[in-house]
Amino acid sequence: MTWWKCSNCGYLFEADKPPERCPSCGEVCTFYDVTCYTPECGCQGYDPKLVARLDKRRI
Ligand SMILES: [Zn+2]
Repeated sequence: MTWWKCSNCGYLFEADKPPERCPSCGEVCTFYDVTCYTPECGCQGYDPKLVARLDKRRI
C-alpha cells in the first residue's frame, strides 16, 4: 500500500492507487506519494519529513 497526500487539503490516506477525487475535500487533486520506504525509521507508513516538506511549500 502507498500513502498519499492531497495537494489541496493535505489529507493523508493509504491506498493502492490515488483516487480520482480526494476522500476528504472531494476535489480532483494531485496526490503526492509520501510513503516511507525506510522501515528502520519506525514511522507509521508515511514519511513525516516528506509530509512536512510538502506543507512548507504549501502545495
Ligand atoms: Zn483533499
